[in-house]
Amino acid sequence: MIHFENIVKTYKGQGGTVCALRNVTLHLEKGGFLAVTGGSGSGKTTLMNMVGCLDRPDSGRRLLDGQDLARMGDRKLSRLRNEKIGFIFQGFNLLHDLTALENVMLPLAIRGTDLRRRREAAAEALARVGLGDRLGHRPGQLSGGQQQRVAIARVIACRTPLILADEPTGNLDPEAAGSIMGILQALNQEGVTILLITHDPAVAARAERRARMCDGVLLADGAAGLC
Ligand code: ADP
Ligand code: MG
Repeated sequence: MIHFENIVKTYKGQGGTVCALRNVTLHLEKGGFLAVTGGSGSGKTTLMNMVGCLDRPDSGRRLLDGQDLARMGDRKLSRLRNEKIGFIFQGFNLLHDLTALENVMLPLAIRGTDLRRRREAAAEALARVGLGDRLGHRPGQLSGGQQQRVAIARVIACRTPLILADEPTGNLDPEAAGSIMGILQALNQEGVTILLITHDPAVAARAERRARMCDGVLLADGAAGLC
Protein backbone atom coordinates (compact mmCIF):
# COMPACT_ATOMS: atom_id res chain seq x y z
CA MET A 1 0.00 0.00 0.00
CA ILE A 2 2.82 2.40 0.94
CA HIS A 3 6.23 2.14 -0.69
CA PHE A 4 8.79 4.87 0.08
CA GLU A 5 12.41 4.81 -1.06
CA ASN A 6 15.03 7.25 0.19
CA ILE A 7 12.63 10.07 0.96
CA VAL A 8 14.38 13.32 1.92
CA LYS A 9 12.64 16.42 3.22
CA THR A 10 14.40 19.55 4.45
CA TYR A 11 12.87 22.77 5.75
CA LYS A 12 14.78 25.95 5.04
CA GLY A 13 14.16 28.82 7.42
CA GLN A 14 15.85 31.79 9.05
CA GLY A 15 17.40 29.54 11.69
CA GLY A 16 19.07 27.42 8.98
CA THR A 17 18.12 24.13 7.40
CA VAL A 18 16.33 21.30 9.24
CA CYS A 19 16.48 17.86 7.73
CA ALA A 20 13.13 16.39 8.84
CA LEU A 21 13.38 13.15 6.83
CA ARG A 22 16.74 11.56 6.02
CA ASN A 23 16.56 8.86 3.37
CA VAL A 24 13.43 7.29 4.79
CA THR A 25 12.55 3.92 3.32
CA LEU A 26 9.20 2.46 4.36
CA HIS A 27 7.17 -0.43 3.08
CA LEU A 28 3.71 -1.13 4.43
CA GLU A 29 1.84 -3.95 2.73
CA LYS A 30 -1.94 -3.97 2.18
CA GLY A 31 -3.65 -5.01 5.38
CA GLY A 32 -0.59 -4.10 7.50
CA PHE A 33 -0.66 -2.17 10.78
CA LEU A 34 2.47 -0.16 11.63
CA ALA A 35 2.97 2.04 14.70
CA VAL A 36 5.68 4.73 14.54
CA THR A 37 7.03 6.12 17.80
CA GLY A 38 9.67 8.80 18.33
CA GLY A 39 10.38 11.98 20.27
CA SER A 40 8.98 15.41 19.58
CA GLY A 41 10.58 16.95 16.50
CA SER A 42 11.86 13.60 15.17
CA GLY A 43 9.90 13.92 11.89
CA LYS A 44 6.75 11.86 12.56
CA THR A 45 4.25 14.44 11.33
CA THR A 46 6.42 15.24 8.31
CA LEU A 47 6.35 11.52 7.47
CA MET A 48 2.56 11.44 7.85
CA ASN A 49 2.21 14.45 5.56
CA MET A 50 4.29 12.66 2.92
CA VAL A 51 2.16 9.53 3.13
CA GLY A 52 -1.02 11.59 3.23
CA CYS A 53 -0.12 13.47 0.01
CA LEU A 54 -0.16 16.77 1.91
CA ASP A 55 3.45 17.63 1.08
CA ARG A 56 6.10 16.70 -1.48
CA PRO A 57 9.62 15.42 -0.71
CA ASP A 58 12.86 16.99 -1.98
CA SER A 59 13.87 13.64 -3.39
CA GLY A 60 13.07 9.94 -3.26
CA ARG A 61 10.37 7.73 -4.66
CA ARG A 62 6.83 7.47 -3.29
CA LEU A 63 4.27 4.91 -4.37
CA LEU A 64 0.80 4.75 -2.88
CA ASP A 65 -1.26 1.72 -3.85
CA GLY A 66 1.09 1.23 -6.80
CA GLN A 67 0.79 4.79 -8.09
CA ASP A 68 3.87 7.02 -8.38
CA LEU A 69 3.01 10.27 -6.59
CA ALA A 70 5.77 12.29 -8.29
CA ARG A 71 3.88 12.01 -11.57
CA MET A 72 0.67 13.48 -10.20
CA GLY A 73 -0.47 17.07 -10.15
CA ASP A 74 -2.13 18.59 -7.09
CA ARG A 75 -5.67 17.87 -8.31
CA LYS A 76 -4.96 14.23 -8.97
CA LEU A 77 -3.20 13.92 -5.61
CA SER A 78 -6.17 15.35 -3.77
CA ARG A 79 -8.53 12.96 -5.58
CA LEU A 80 -6.27 10.03 -4.64
CA ARG A 81 -6.21 11.26 -1.03
CA ASN A 82 -10.01 11.42 -0.86
CA GLU A 83 -10.42 7.94 -2.30
CA LYS A 84 -7.72 6.13 -0.40
CA ILE A 85 -6.95 7.85 2.89
CA GLY A 86 -8.87 8.43 6.10
CA PHE A 87 -7.21 10.77 8.61
CA ILE A 88 -7.55 10.64 12.40
CA PHE A 89 -5.94 13.41 14.47
CA GLN A 90 -5.14 13.94 18.13
CA GLY A 91 -7.57 16.88 18.33
CA PHE A 92 -10.48 14.94 16.68
CA ASN A 93 -11.11 17.76 14.10
CA LEU A 94 -14.90 17.66 14.36
CA LEU A 95 -17.12 20.61 13.47
CA HIS A 96 -18.65 21.85 16.70
CA ASP A 97 -21.91 23.21 15.29
CA LEU A 98 -22.76 19.88 13.67
CA THR A 99 -24.18 16.76 15.35
CA ALA A 100 -22.25 13.49 15.39
CA LEU A 101 -24.39 12.25 12.50
CA GLU A 102 -23.80 15.43 10.45
CA ASN A 103 -20.05 15.30 11.11
CA VAL A 104 -19.88 11.74 9.76
CA MET A 105 -22.12 12.61 6.79
CA LEU A 106 -20.05 15.61 5.70
CA PRO A 107 -17.23 13.91 3.74
CA LEU A 108 -19.82 11.73 2.01
CA ALA A 109 -21.55 14.90 0.80
CA ILE A 110 -18.23 16.09 -0.61
CA ARG A 111 -18.03 12.77 -2.49
CA GLY A 112 -21.48 13.30 -3.97
CA THR A 113 -23.25 10.47 -2.12
CA ASP A 114 -27.01 11.07 -2.06
CA LEU A 115 -28.66 12.21 1.17
CA ARG A 116 -30.43 8.98 2.07
CA ARG A 117 -27.34 6.86 1.55
CA ARG A 118 -25.25 9.43 3.50
CA ARG A 119 -27.55 9.22 6.46
CA GLU A 120 -27.62 5.41 6.39
CA ALA A 121 -23.85 5.04 6.07
CA ALA A 122 -23.20 7.60 8.83
CA ALA A 123 -25.70 6.01 11.25
CA GLU A 124 -24.25 2.57 10.52
CA ALA A 125 -20.67 3.77 11.14
CA LEU A 126 -21.67 5.47 14.41
CA ALA A 127 -23.44 2.30 15.57
CA ARG A 128 -20.30 0.37 14.73
CA VAL A 129 -18.22 2.52 17.13
CA GLY A 130 -20.85 2.20 19.88
CA LEU A 131 -22.48 5.61 19.38
CA GLY A 132 -25.79 4.53 17.87
CA ASP A 133 -27.58 6.36 20.69
CA ARG A 134 -25.62 9.62 20.26
CA LEU A 135 -26.42 10.58 16.66
CA GLY A 136 -27.90 13.97 17.62
CA HIS A 137 -25.18 14.96 20.10
CA ARG A 138 -22.77 17.77 19.26
CA PRO A 139 -19.04 17.31 19.99
CA GLY A 140 -19.28 19.53 23.10
CA GLN A 141 -21.82 17.08 24.57
CA LEU A 142 -19.50 14.09 24.12
CA SER A 143 -16.41 12.89 26.03
CA GLY A 144 -13.00 12.96 24.35
CA GLY A 145 -13.13 9.23 23.72
CA GLN A 146 -16.59 9.54 22.19
CA GLN A 147 -15.45 12.43 19.97
CA GLN A 148 -12.57 10.36 18.69
CA ARG A 149 -15.02 7.53 17.97
CA VAL A 150 -17.09 9.98 15.90
CA ALA A 151 -13.90 10.85 13.98
CA ILE A 152 -13.27 7.14 13.36
CA ALA A 153 -16.89 6.66 12.25
CA ARG A 154 -16.30 9.46 9.74
CA VAL A 155 -13.42 7.43 8.30
CA ILE A 156 -15.37 4.15 8.42
CA ALA A 157 -18.29 5.67 6.49
CA CYS A 158 -15.91 6.64 3.67
CA ARG A 159 -14.50 3.09 3.46
CA THR A 160 -10.97 4.22 2.63
CA PRO A 161 -8.46 1.35 2.40
CA LEU A 162 -5.78 3.28 4.35
CA ILE A 163 -6.05 5.03 7.72
CA LEU A 164 -3.43 7.52 8.93
CA ALA A 165 -3.70 8.29 12.63
CA ASP A 166 -1.43 10.96 14.19
CA GLU A 167 -1.51 10.53 18.00
CA PRO A 168 -5.19 9.45 18.00
CA THR A 169 -5.09 8.60 21.71
CA GLY A 170 -2.89 11.53 22.77
CA ASN A 171 -5.75 13.38 24.53
CA LEU A 172 -7.45 10.32 26.02
CA ASP A 173 -7.33 8.38 29.28
CA PRO A 174 -6.06 4.76 29.11
CA GLU A 175 -9.56 3.26 29.00
CA ALA A 176 -10.73 5.46 26.11
CA ALA A 177 -7.38 4.88 24.36
CA GLY A 178 -7.91 1.13 24.70
CA SER A 179 -11.34 1.38 23.13
CA ILE A 180 -9.98 3.41 20.17
CA MET A 181 -7.22 0.84 19.64
CA GLY A 182 -9.80 -1.98 19.76
CA ILE A 183 -11.76 -0.31 16.95
CA LEU A 184 -8.61 0.23 14.87
CA GLN A 185 -7.56 -3.39 15.36
CA ALA A 186 -10.99 -4.63 14.25
CA LEU A 187 -10.80 -2.46 11.11
CA ASN A 188 -7.32 -3.81 10.43
CA GLN A 189 -8.61 -7.37 10.76
CA GLU A 190 -11.12 -6.52 8.04
CA GLY A 191 -8.24 -5.55 5.74
CA VAL A 192 -7.83 -1.80 6.32
CA THR A 193 -4.15 -0.75 6.26
CA ILE A 194 -3.17 1.43 9.22
CA LEU A 195 -0.23 3.74 9.89
CA LEU A 196 -0.34 5.09 13.43
CA ILE A 197 1.87 7.59 15.23
CA THR A 198 2.01 7.42 19.00
CA HIS A 199 4.07 8.40 22.02
CA ASP A 200 2.49 5.63 24.08
CA PRO A 201 4.30 2.25 24.17
CA ALA A 202 1.08 0.51 25.33
CA VAL A 203 -0.68 1.80 22.22
CA ALA A 204 2.22 0.90 19.90
CA ALA A 205 2.28 -2.61 21.39
CA ARG A 206 -1.13 -3.32 19.89
CA ALA A 207 0.03 -2.75 16.30
CA GLU A 208 1.35 -5.60 14.20
CA ARG A 209 4.70 -3.86 13.50
CA ARG A 210 6.59 -1.03 15.16
CA ALA A 211 9.22 1.43 13.92
CA ARG A 212 10.89 4.48 15.43
CA MET A 213 11.70 7.95 14.11
CA CYS A 214 14.97 9.31 15.40
CA ASP A 215 16.12 12.72 14.14
CA GLY A 216 14.66 12.18 10.66
CA VAL A 217 15.76 8.54 10.38
CA LEU A 218 13.20 5.73 10.41
CA LEU A 219 14.49 2.74 12.35
CA ALA A 220 12.94 -0.72 12.37
CA ASP A 221 11.80 -1.93 15.79
CA GLY A 222 14.77 -3.22 17.76
CA ALA A 223 17.32 -1.51 15.49
CA ALA A 224 20.21 0.22 17.21
CA GLY A 225 19.90 3.99 17.36
CA LEU A 226 20.99 6.92 19.45
CA CYS A 227 17.47 7.87 20.55
P1 ADP B 1 7.24 15.39 15.12
O1 ADP B 1 5.90 15.23 14.51
O2 ADP B 1 7.99 14.11 15.28
O3 ADP B 1 7.20 16.17 16.40
P2 ADP B 1 7.78 17.13 12.83
O4 ADP B 1 7.68 16.26 11.64
O5 ADP B 1 6.64 18.02 13.12
O6 ADP B 1 8.16 16.26 14.11
O7 ADP B 1 9.09 18.05 12.67
C1 ADP B 1 10.36 17.53 12.32
C2 ADP B 1 11.39 18.69 12.28
O8 ADP B 1 11.08 19.56 11.20
C3 ADP B 1 11.37 19.54 13.53
O9 ADP B 1 12.71 19.93 13.80
C4 ADP B 1 10.55 20.73 13.14
O10 ADP B 1 10.94 21.87 13.85
C5 ADP B 1 10.82 20.88 11.65
N1 ADP B 1 9.65 21.40 10.90
C6 ADP B 1 8.45 20.80 10.78
N2 ADP B 1 7.62 21.51 10.00
C7 ADP B 1 8.31 22.61 9.61
C8 ADP B 1 8.03 23.75 8.79
N3 ADP B 1 6.85 23.87 8.18
N4 ADP B 1 9.01 24.67 8.62
C9 ADP B 1 10.21 24.52 9.19
N5 ADP B 1 10.56 23.49 9.98
C10 ADP B 1 9.63 22.55 10.19
MG1 MG C 1 3.97 15.65 15.27
